[in-house]
Amino acid sequence: MMEQLTVQETRDMLIFVADNLIESKEMLCEIDGKIGDGDHGFGIARGFTAVKETLNDNTYSTVNNVFKDTGMSMLHSMGGASGIIFSSMFLGGSALTDLETLNIGSLTSIMRGGLEKVKVQGKAKLGDKTMVDAYEPAVIALEKNQDSSLKIALKSAFLAAEDGVRKTKEYPAKHGRSKFLYDRSIGIEDAGATTVSLIFKAMYNYLSK
Ligand code: ADP
Ligand code: MG
Repeated sequence: MMEQLTVQETRDMLIFVADNLIESKEMLCEIDGKIGDGDHGFGIARGFTAVKETLNDNTYSTVNNVFKDTGMSMLHSMGGASGIIFSSMFLGGSALTDLETLNIGSLTSIMRGGLEKVKVQGKAKLGDKTMVDAYEPAVIALEKNQDSSLKIALKSAFLAAEDGVRKTKEYPAKHGRSKFLYDRSIGIEDAGATTVSLIFKAMYNYLSK
């Protein structure tokens, strides 16, 4: 089943994602507080507040620019290492030709490009207890669902991301502040991975409305 979003709908979807992540601020801080410094929700909420402002204040004629502005707003408002990492999720479409619609193929290209950017920037691999543990399985799920509708593909992506979050509980941390806890981080999920699962879940929920 073919299914696509217009530029305007793509913008609405990312505003919906932003609202969902802003609402998750306290939960994300609580998770980060168990093995990190407890600020992840603040950074993410700050980033997505800037995204909402930018997307509401501008008009768009391509899907590419909606994603680019989303990433750039996060980069500039969040700052630091996590600003670079989480903004990269939305900056993977820079090599694509101008898109007037978002379909499963173009969303997959943007997310695969974002994942590669995240890996170059952060050097984390699967199993390092980072957002990559949710993001990589989500991208692979999109890639396996090229013949599905955007909605079905996103459902499988968010379920794969949630499964990835559960797996982060089993790993000791190797990056960020949590790595200083070594094995004491075992049993606790990664905050950034949780954020990734919420982003994909919100995209799915937008399409299910
Ligand atoms: P900080 O670690 O500076 O306090 P945040 O709390 O906002 O930043 O973000 C922490 C999250 O960032 C972690 O839960 C993890 O998912 C992600 N992260 C940390 N280092 C890396 C990395 N090298 N690659 C990918 N993601 C990372
Ligand atoms: Mg933190």
